Amino acid sequence: MKAYVVEKEALSHNIELLQKMANGVPVWAVLKGNGYGIGVLPLARHLAEAGIDHFCVTEVREAELLRENGFEDASILMLRSTGDPAELNRLMDLRVILTIGSWETACAINAIAAERADVVEAHLKIDTGMGRYGFLPEDMDHILGVYREQKNIAVSGVYTHFNCAFGSKKLTHQEFETFQKTVSAIREAGFETGTVHCCNSSAFLRFPEMHCDGVRLGSAILGRVPFHTKLRPVGYAEAHVEELRVLPKGHPTGYGAMWTAREDTPVAIVPIGWYNGFRERCDGGITRFRDCLSLILRGLRGIFFRALPLVEVNGHKCRVVGQIGMLHIAVDVRGIECKPGDRVIVPINPLHVKGMKIQYR
Ligand SMILES: *Cc1c(COP(=O)(O)O)cnc(C)c1O
Repeated sequence: MKAYVVEKEALSHNIELLQKMANGVPVWAVLKGNGYGIGVLPLARHLAEAGIDHFCVTEVREAELLRENGFEDASILMLRSTGDPAELNRLMDLRVILTIGSWETACAINAIAAERADVVEAHLKIDTGMGRYGFLPEDMDHILGVYREQKNIAVSGVYTHFNCAFGSKKLTHQEFETFQKTVSAIREAGFETGTVHCCNSSAFLRFPEMHCDGVRLGSAILGRVPFHTKLRPVGYAEAHVEELRVLPKGHPTGYGAMWTAREDTPVAIVPIGWYNGFRERCDGGITRFRDCLSLILRGLRGIFFRALPLVEVNGHKCRVVGQIGMLHIAVDVRGIECKPGDRVIVPINPLHVKGMKIQYR
């Protein structure tokens, strides 16, 4: 038996803390990637209990799930700028706020909305550096063209997504300035910009002055940000000791015989491995130079000092010995009490979790 446990209490703690920090600015909870791995619906329900009724998705299916399961009135923003007619029709059925990231998308949305004799709500996306979706700030003609010419679109917001909010403050400030100039230019042309937003989790935590009219938070809700905060990681994998072995001195464990017992060693065999997401690279997030460096150092330390990943057995930190298998690890349990069936906690990023049930507790 193994499961990925989401601690409701930690989740509530994070949501409450983030709402406090947002200080009245609406939190748009990002539910992409199956709710960062912990399930769109259970996560959305938990968020709704805390009063959050603005959500962001990247897939039609995520919006469907919400609408079909009690979120009839929530605001749902599609973060992907799609021009696909099938997707657009479905999103319009679901009353999802669309993203317009290009003139072509605006034309596609307007045409379909006109066909349906409808006026659909959308936010304009400005590309201040991410280089994926969004109008370039110098493309003012097209930006204003959406307001002027696309009569079946009601633009109710303008936003951007920073490329470096976890890293360079200077770059982020520059991008914010570009964004603000674009917003001002729209206003000066006589149009209302509606909800102006630009912060993801990192920007939200580091730049309170950029919160604007809304913040789009994902990883912070799960307590997975590359800074020290009072946020708590909300989940871990839980498994149980399958077998307790005593490996005699000189006996190896795992593929490649990478580890050999230096003395008779009690070893717990735990049925969880890299297939389940244990020790996937990027687990801690390698979003900064510092993280890359620490990853390299960790690797070197592993080679020279046999620094091995840790899991928790009966509340004790214990080292994994030998190679992590696809579905098994061996854990050195010298000096602690341990028997088959005992509980083992394994740190895993929920985004990498595979082959395990998600359990909210
Ligand atoms: C994923 C995403 C977010 C949330 O990012 P976090 O860093 O996880 O908070 C916000 N905005 C956009 C456009 C995104 O794609």
